[in-house]
Amino acid sequence: MKIAIIGAGVAGLTAGRILAEAGHEVMVYEKSRGLGGRLATRYAGENNQTKVDHGLPYIEETSEKIQPMLQNLVNKGKLVPFSGPFMHLNEAGELSQFYPTKKRYVAPMGMNQVGKELARYVDVQTNTKVSGVTHIGEDRTKKRSWMLNFPTGDAVNVDAVVIATPSKQAYAILNTTIDEVATLKLLREVDAVEYDPCFSLMVGYGDADVPEWSMMECDHPIIASITNEVSKRGESTECSFVIQTTAEFARANKDASKEAVEEEILDALGEITGGWSTLPAWSELHFWRYSKAINPLPYPFMEVVGNDAPIALIGSYMNGDSVESAYLSGLALGQFWSDKFKD
Ligand SMILES: Cc1cc2nc3c(=O)[nH]c(=O)nc-3n(C[C@H](O)[C@H](O)[C@H](O)COP(=O)(O)OP(=O)(O)OC[C@H]3O[C@@H](n4cnc5c(N)ncnc54)[C@H](O)[C@@H]3O)c2cc1C
Repeated sequence: MKIAIIGAGVAGLTAGRILAEAGHEVMVYEKSRGLGGRLATRYAGENNQTKVDHGLPYIEETSEKIQPMLQNLVNKGKLVPFSGPFMHLNEAGELSQFYPTKKRYVAPMGMNQVGKELARYVDVQTNTKVSGVTHIGEDRTKKRSWMLNFPTGDAVNVDAVVIATPSKQAYAILNTTIDEVATLKLLREVDAVEYDPCFSLMVGYGDADVPEWSMMECDHPIIASITNEVSKRGESTECSFVIQTTAEFARANKDASKEAVEEEILDALGEITGGWSTLPAWSELHFWRYSKAINPLPYPFMEVVGNDAPIALIGSYMNGDSVESAYLSGLALGQFWSDKFKD
């Protein structure tokens, strides 16, 4: 089968690899420049020389189910243990060290290297947003079942489609098929999934002294965590942090100006780490509209229509919202379709 996967995050790349290995002709379409989706790294600072993970800060071994993926990435040198020190700031402003119960891993060369590694086994077309899918036929022995539409006006015909984006973006794509297939019940379920937003503020301080802690998790109205990026890199880099805000702050300030948001976050940072940190050499702000799903769907994946016009939804919002749920969702659909569509 000729299969199109929309979205090059963990879910899409995992499903893509399995389906390609099963002999299908797979192409992953990714709207952005990079691979890995919310496993995102930016080159920031002077001459773009400082790597910062502005999405997921580390990958946790949430259960043994994610071990095969983690072990493979560790063996390839893409992930290493994130060993701390980890600090916790309580509501009273008291700082204490803690020891996470589950193993944590970071990517010394940047989280986007995880996406790059997962994409080695499948063809990916980046900078290619899919605007919609049109159902063009049931009998895939005679013609392809689906037409993928791009904002440029181009189109590609395929036998099967996997939508591997956050649910709100999946809804927008699927909504374009509404007149052709019985997707209404599924659309309603997908539309009901809500997300926590989050701001990530990336800041650099040139040759300032680097703190001894690796990450600080905060019970604070504005700041949820501060990651000391230097502690993750296997190379020397300038003193730099990624500050993730609480969902409440992000929701309340999503329409505020970039300057006002940055100022509030930096003031809060100064209260926690000291006045020096309110004046970074550079800063960049990113808004994650879909950081983590609040009410995930209770399935590993969803399929829309019958065997002659296959279309499915996968992603971390299936059975959780984590790297593990993204991986397991891609794995489940990849294995299910490999068995179901043996050529
Ligand atoms: C700031 C932050 C902190 C997080 N913290 C944690 C944590 O501590 N622990 C944890 O387990 N998880 C965490 N997560 C969540 C975790 O990163 C995600 O659940 C997981 O990576 C999602 O994988 P995915 O493949 O389902 O989707 P994504 O990674 O979102 O991938 C979907 C891809 O689809 C692409 N796309 C969307 N629309 C289109 C379109 N129309 N056409 C083409 N491509 C499209 C997107 O560009 C994206 O690359 C965090 C996320 C963020 C942002």
